[in-house]
Amino acid sequence: MSQSSPSGKGMRPSSRKVGILGGGQLARMLAIEGARLGLEIHIMSPSPADPAAQVTNHWLKGELGDLAAMTELLNRVDAVTIESEFVDPKIVLSAEAASGRQVTPSVRLIAELSDRLQQKAWLEKMKIPTAEFVAVQKSSDVENFFAQPNVSAGRGNRAGRAKGVVVKKRRFGYDGYGTFILRSPSDLESWLSEHGLTSAEFIAEKFVPFRRELAVQFAINARGQICEFPLVEWQARDSKCHWVHGPVKARGFDQLSARLRRALVKSGYVGMIAFEIFDTGRELLVNEVAPRVHNSAHYSIEGLYLNQFAAHLQAVLDLDLPRAPTAAAPGFAMLNLIGSSDQAPVLPMTALNEVFFHWYGKRDNRLGRKMGHVTALGPNGPAALKKLLKIEKKMRV
Ligand code: AMP
Repeated sequence: MSQSSPSGKGMRPSSRKVGILGGGQLARMLAIEGARLGLEIHIMSPSPADPAAQVTNHWLKGELGDLAAMTELLNRVDAVTIESEFVDPKIVLSAEAASGRQVTPSVRLIAELSDRLQQKAWLEKMKIPTAEFVAVQKSSDVENFFAQPNVSAGRGNRAGRAKGVVVKKRRFGYDGYGTFILRSPSDLESWLSEHGLTSAEFIAEKFVPFRRELAVQFAINARGQICEFPLVEWQARDSKCHWVHGPVKARGFDQLSARLRRALVKSGYVGMIAFEIFDTGRELLVNEVAPRVHNSAHYSIEGLYLNQFAAHLQAVLDLDLPRAPTAAAPGFAMLNLIGSSDQAPVLPMTALNEVFFHWYGKRDNRLGRKMGHVTALGPNGPAALKKLLKIEKKMRV
């Protein structure tokens, strides 16, 4: 499909109404970008104090499981999107049937990609490399997988010999919750005694001795126009994204990116989507797919002229997308501001003058809660990150 087609869809001068299901920080940043684009953003969330509810006059009270509220929101707007994949597809389908309006991305794809087993099947079907895995129905499935020679003995590579199994909850895992790394038979034993008989469903996959974790995001509209965001490196601390920097290069990425783009077109996906990737030094393996805007692209608000939130809204409204956003600087970095306690944070406002500061307006500080983020630009990713890590030392979140 030509991206320079004269029949492309420009923005209509009249303000369009876009509904967002959910009121957290992702919805807040979508709402702020939506307002910048001249859109009327409607938020459905439980409380007017929610991060996204604070930034719009069009707020509707409703939990994600509230069919009546969801139907009402769908009736009020021209297009609807969602900030979290953890929604009950049956409720969305009922609201769609009652209102005659569809949520974007499609709830069918959201449901498929938010189940780790179906996500793995989707990756395999699309010929996208991922870690070997098995579905776990009973404890012996994990034991048998662990006992496989290529799992229990590990395989040498430049990142070293590593062995083990990673057990993951099929649904509702996030920020490392629901992911268990089992490196030894005793880890396996304690996991089995704690979780082996619970009703939650799991998959088990081979431990990947990666050198670094990468991520890439795409925005795609209903006409198949795809905008590819730069490849980034990220690192977690306590299982949560600590920082991101980029752009980075990785051997074999062009091939992987072509496969990802083909998979998106083939599936009819619409909106922003993020892929987390393990780089082992020998190969690139997709670890996780997030069908929404994603923490790994928050840097794009200042690092690129087209950021992920605007790109998502453009995709949802079937407006034209460029092949890639234009970079605002050669390098960028983003650092999450994660709560360290329930005490009020100490923010060095003068030092923050050196960076782009985002605070999500969450009422309570809490250990492990994402409270905000900072972004820096620079001659390259590591230089921008250095600036952020220096500022981090001066603050207590
Ligand atoms: P996930 O729940 O898949 O996002 O995993 C959380 C984190 O656990 C990842 O960012 C990795 O650091 C680590 N992890 C997940 N799966 C694996 C794996 N198969 N091998 C090694 N580390 C993993």
